[in-house]
Order: sequence, then structure tokens, then C-alpha cells
Amino acid sequence: MILAVAPLVDMHVHLREPGGEHKETILTGTAAAVAGGFGAVACMPNTDPVLDSPELIERVCRAKAHCAVYPIACISIGQFGRRLTNFGLLRRAGAVAVSDDGKTVEDEDLMRFALLSAADHGLAVISHCEPETEICERDITLAEETNSRLHIAHVSLRSTVEVIRSAKKRGVHVTAETCPHYLLGSAHGAVNPPLASEEDRAALCAALKDDTIDVIASDHAPHTAAEKEADPSLCGFIGLETSVGAVLTALYHTRLMSAADIFRKMRETPAAILGIPVPQGEIVVDTDVPWTPQKFVSMSSNCAFTGVMLRGRVAVCQPTLLPD
Ligand SMILES: [Zn+2]
Repeated sequence: MILAVAPLVDMHVHLREPGGEHKETILTGTAAAVAGGFGAVACMPNTDPVLDSPELIERVCRAKAHCAVYPIACISIGQFGRRLTNFGLLRRAGAVAVSDDGKTVEDEDLMRFALLSAADHGLAVISHCEPETEICERDITLAEETNSRLHIAHVSLRSTVEVIRSAKKRGVHVTAETCPHYLLGSAHGAVNPPLASEEDRAALCAALKDDTIDVIASDHAPHTAAEKEADPSLCGFIGLETSVGAVLTALYHTRLMSAADIFRKMRETPAAILGIPVPQGEIVVDTDVPWTPQKFVSMSSNCAFTGVMLRGRVAVCQPTLLPD
């Protein structure tokens, strides 16, 4: 089937700029995003330096890019987990959410203040949970206590899915995402959280279907081949160019979900969580074409699905950039 739909939104990518321009830049990362069908991405703040000041947020917003880029600011200064950043100023500078992604906010009181302050400023709090289920449970309790909104990043375990499902039933304002590599389970290389069991994989697919998990995000995490070779434990995969193919293979060709329901979790839902507009323009998706990822627009090629046969691919993507 050939589908023409609006460009997608990826709410969890690492564009590596500033400080990691040998792995990816905002320009190359957004070129990869466009190739993968995305018209907007939200980038994580664990760059070098980390995005904990309005100046750095403005710098990301002003950078030349091929699609819309929405920066996520740090929860804590330096991501040290000790003092909150200034959410009001960061919001005004262009941040759409706060996260210490890559690290867990260990201090429970700090996380409570973060949830309260973010609620005041209309920012989503995105939690990197390690250990996953335990911290997810803690943060859900805090969100419940403070009547605030929480988003759980890269869910990989059935036990976490169950915690989120029961919280949603109680009416807690929690949303969650998972990533293509946890759904297809054929990835090679290290990722954090690590790939779990077949039981976990099946639970994640079921959780997407029943809306316990709201969003699919790539967690695009470029590393150079030399870096990977020097340190095989370096975590993450690039994912922007393979996201649609992997997700269609895992969910659509297995008849678990319709293409419309899948794309809602890659467009309207993440846009609503971040409070950003749905991108304008058009992508054309061939849902059936078989292909094997080999070459990438991204500067890095640490792909989870290199040499893996995927079914479904973005044929054309023409996002319309909104005027400044
Ligand atoms: Zn993370």
C-alpha cells in the first residue's frame, strides 16, 4: 500500500550538537530525520555542554536544520542532579520539555520540585528511569502526589508496562514511549536500557495496542565506528531512518496495529505531549517494500537493523518548515 500522510514527530533524539559534531550535527541529524519521514524532532540535552541555559537552548533553536527542532532542556544544572535549572527562562528560550536523559534524577525531592515547577510552566517532564521499573514507580507516585504530568522515556520491560497500566487506570497523568529496537528485538550492539526478553517485547507491542504506551520514539543515538570499536559498551543506535520500516515490520505486518494507529503514536500524540504543532507537508510511505538498511544519511552508522530485512519505507518526505 502507498500512503500519503503528514510528516512524523520524533520526541526523543540525540543530535549531539554542541560537543559531539564528529558523531552528528543538527544539520545532518535533521537530514536523517527528513529521510526517515520526520518533520519535527525533539532533541535531548545531554550534549557537551549540556542544555541547561537559555543561551544554549536558543542556540539549538537558531541552528540551521532540515526540519523543525524542539530542544529539551536539562532538569538539573549540569545534569548533576542537585539544583533545578530555571524552567521559566528555558521555556521562554524555546524548550518544550525537561529531562536529564542519560541519567536518572536520583534525588526524590528534586524530582518532586521538577514536576511541580514544570507543571507551572507547561513543560513535560521526561524521566530516564534506571533501574527502570523501580524509578518509573517512584516517579508515578510523585506525579500522583503533585497532580502533575510525567512522561517515561524508552520503556523496555513488561514490569514497567504493568506499572504504567495500573497508574493510568488510577487516573495518573503519565504517558510513555518505547523504541523500534525494543519492538523488533533483532538489534545488535549495546543500548540502554538493554534489549530484554521475548516476553518483554510482546508486552511492549500489546501495550502500544491498548494505549498503555502512547508514543514510539527512535532514541536516535549516533556514535562513530571508531568510538564503538574502542568501547563496545557505548550505548545506543541511530534510528531516524529506520524507525518507520522497523515499526511497520513489528506492528503492521504482524497485524497487531493499523498504519493509522501506528502513525498517531509517531505524530499527533508526541506533538500533544510536547505542546508543539503537527508538522505540515507530506510523506509518502510504501508500507510493503522490503529493504535492508546499509547506507545512512546520518553521519554515524551504528544502526540496530543493519543487514536486517525490514518491510515498509518512507519513499518521499517533504516537510514544510514553518516561518520563524
Ligand atoms: Zn534515556
